Amino acid sequence: MRIEIQLRIVGDDDSVISTDEVLHFDKGDDRLEAIGLSLSDAKAVLAGIQERVVTAQAASFLARHRCCSRCDRALLSKGPGRIQFRTAFGTVPLNSPRFHRCCCQPSTSKTFSPLGELFTDHTAPELLYLETKWASLVSFGLTAQLLKEVLPVGSTANACTIRRHLHKVAARHDADLGGEQLGSLDSGPGKGQPQAAVIVGIDGGYLRNWYDKKRNFEVIVGKSMITGRNDRYFGLVVSQDEQPNRRLAAVLQDLSGTPAITMLTDGGDSVRALAGVMAPGAVPILDWFHIAMRLTGLGQYTRGLAHHNPVEATALESRLERIKWRLWHGDADEAVTRAEQLAADVAALDSRYPKLKRLAKATAGLAIYIANNAAALPDYSERWLNGERISTAFVESTVNLVVSRRFAKKQQMQWSKVGAHRLLQTRTKTLDGTLRDLFSTWYPALAANDNQVPALAIAA
Ligand SMILES: [Zn+2]
Repeated sequence: MRIEIQLRIVGDDDSVISTDEVLHFDKGDDRLEAIGLSLSDAKAVLAGIQERVVTAQAASFLARHRCCSRCDRALLSKGPGRIQFRTAFGTVPLNSPRFHRCCCQPSTSKTFSPLGELFTDHTAPELLYLETKWASLVSFGLTAQLLKEVLPVGSTANACTIRRHLHKVAARHDADLGGEQLGSLDSGPGKGQPQAAVIVGIDGGYLRNWYDKKRNFEVIVGKSMITGRNDRYFGLVVSQDEQPNRRLAAVLQDLSGTPAITMLTDGGDSVRALAGVMAPGAVPILDWFHIAMRLTGLGQYTRGLAHHNPVEATALESRLERIKWRLWHGDADEAVTRAEQLAADVAALDSRYPKLKRLAKATAGLAIYIANNAAALPDYSERWLNGERISTAFVESTVNLVVSRRFAKKQQMQWSKVGAHRLLQTRTKTLDGTLRDLFSTWYPALAANDNQVPALAIAA
C-alpha cells in the first residue's frame, strides 16, 4: 500500500498557512519486518515535518518583525542571510534577512537580523540536552552513533561537536554559579530557621593527565544526602575551580533555612582543606574505617616485632588497643597524647626487628593523623548506637560511579583537567537526575521530559 504523510499548518486565526505532502512511501504487508514504520521511515517523516514546522515558525516570527516596533514603518531590507538550526529532528536551513534599523530607534548597529533575536543559539535546547546527557553517560563517539541511529540528526552529530556542546553547557552552569554569588555554607545552630540535616561526604579519585602522561591529577567527588530528597552529587578538579565553595552550595540551594551539615572525609589533606572551604560551619567527621585501617596496619608491625621483642610487642599492642578505644569514644586529646608518647617510645626502641624504621614512621604518622583530624573525631560509639554514619563508604561508591566508568580508568584513558572538570559537572547532574532541571532554568518553556529515565535507574 501507499502511505502518504500530509501536514497542515493553521494560523492562530484558523487560516490554513500550508497544506503539504511531507512524503510518501510504499509498504508491503507480507513480511513481519515490513509492518509499521522502519527507523529510516520514521527519521524521514520526522525530518520532513520538522523542516516545515521550523520554517513556518521562523516565517511567522519574521513577519511580525518586518516593521518598526515603535512607529510601525516597514523596515528597509539590507539583504539576504542564512542560518542553520540544528534540532533533534534534523538541521533546518532558514532565510534570515537583514534589515536597516528604523531611524526612530537610535542604535549602535545600523542593521540587524530579526531571526538572530529568536535563534540566540543555533542548536535546539532539547538536542543540546540529549547530547549532554548521553555524552555524560557514554563516550562522545558512542553518543554520536546513538543519536544518528535513532534520530535524523545526520552528519552534524560527531564526537567533536558533542564534546564542544557539553563543554559549553558546563561552562554556562559555572558562569551561573558565579552570578548567583552563592557563598560558602556557614551552617550552625541558632539561626532561628528550620534546619535540614544534611550528610555530605567528599572523596578523591585520580585520572591520568593527557598533557603529562606520567602523572595523575586528583578529582574530587561529593554526595549530599537529605531525608526525603534524592541524593545529589557534585564533582570538581580543584585547580579548575576558582570557587569550590559554590559546588556544595549549589546542590543545597533549594533548601529553606541554613542546613545543618555533617561532613565526612577520609582525613586526607586535600579533601580536608576542601571540606573547610565548602562548609566552614559544618560538623566534620573523620571516616572511622580509615582510622581503623591505620591501626590494623600498625598491628601487623607489632606482630612482626613480637619475634624479636615479645614483651615490648605485647605492651605496644595493648597501648594501640587503648588508643583505639579512646578514639572510638571521641576522646581526641587523650588519643593524641597517647599516640605521641607511643611514637616517642617506639623511636627509642632498641631492637633487631628489620622493619623497626617503618614501624617508627607509621607510629609517628598515626600521631600526626590524629592531631590533624582532632576536630573531626566525634564519639563514634554514640553515633554507632544511634544508627548514624561513621564511614565514608557511601561516597567511595559515588566516586566509583561518577569517575570509573565514564572516565574509563581501567583503559587508562587520559584527560585534560578542564575536560575532566566540565564532564564532572554534567555527569554528576545526569546521574542524580538534575540535568533537566538545569535546562529548565535556562529554557523555562522546555517541556518536562516525560520519558526521562529515573536518576536512580541510571545510577544503578
Ligand atoms: Zn520607527
